[in-house]
Amino acid sequence: MRIFDLHADLAEAIRPAYKNGKRSVLRNDWHSRFAKGEIAWTSAASFFAGSESWEDMKKCVRMVKEDILSSGYSLILSKEDLTEDPKETMFLMTVEGMCGIHDNVKEKIQWLYDQGNRIGSLEWNDQNDLATGNSGDPARGLTEMGREAVRVMNDLHMIVDVSHANEKAFWDILDTSSLPIIATHSNAKSLCTVERNLTNQQMRALAGKGGLIGLNACNMFIDDDPAKQDARHLAKHARYIADLVGVEHVACGFDFGAYYAEKTEYDILAPEQAQNFIRGLREKNFSEEEIQAIAYGNVMRFLKEYM
Ligand SMILES: [Zn+2]
Repeated sequence: MRIFDLHADLAEAIRPAYKNGKRSVLRNDWHSRFAKGEIAWTSAASFFAGSESWEDMKKCVRMVKEDILSSGYSLILSKEDLTEDPKETMFLMTVEGMCGIHDNVKEKIQWLYDQGNRIGSLEWNDQNDLATGNSGDPARGLTEMGREAVRVMNDLHMIVDVSHANEKAFWDILDTSSLPIIATHSNAKSLCTVERNLTNQQMRALAGKGGLIGLNACNMFIDDDPAKQDARHLAKHARYIADLVGVEHVACGFDFGAYYAEKTEYDILAPEQAQNFIRGLREKNFSEEEIQAIAYGNVMRFLKEYM
């Protein structure tokens, strides 16, 4: 089953190889792994946190774009690029955290968009000039500058991602955004209590506005019990969220650890293992039509409407 992965830290996969003078890293190091997992479309996130500057952001975004293009892959820049059955993996550039933006919000977000980024989160776990992440001050949500950022993104049809927002920022963004929003890589807090997962109330509101929830395969986000941190238990989140808000709001945003760390002990941490999740969905009695919707159909529908 083809898959659209809404969150992949590919900048972290490219950067170490770049430092060693390698190029076309996605093609040389990851192509066969994408193919094995049937990752037909993937996000390619540029990730920023802490004191990283606007210059750092520009440098990273340029690196990600250069590697996608020098690898001979195609970018998804508009709805017309959303081919139903691509011959090889297609890439959707995204931004995770905009801590380098302190002024000229409109111009800087326009630059990110012009480079090809089509989904962006204002914050990572920490707080910055735009918004507050889940480990920031619980009483602080979106700032005035952050509200402007959401409006600029809405005007550009660059989708706002709330996966790292704290609760206040989540509700502020939902209130401010004129377009539906996505939590690209978060699960259900009722099944796993990690801070970044979403409450039932959050998921109902996000879905009520037409948004998507991308399921996160990071082991700690699947279950509080380490023995249950596997693909089958990730499928349990799909079942739970589909029953709560409707299967049309469920997607994949695996955040595979293989892109940023070497781990070996889980069955759903790398792109080549993505089909284990599809098998988990079959065990949870989803129909083939529903599995297709979760695997890629819902994301395609959403992007065709809002991108
Ligand atoms: Zn993240």
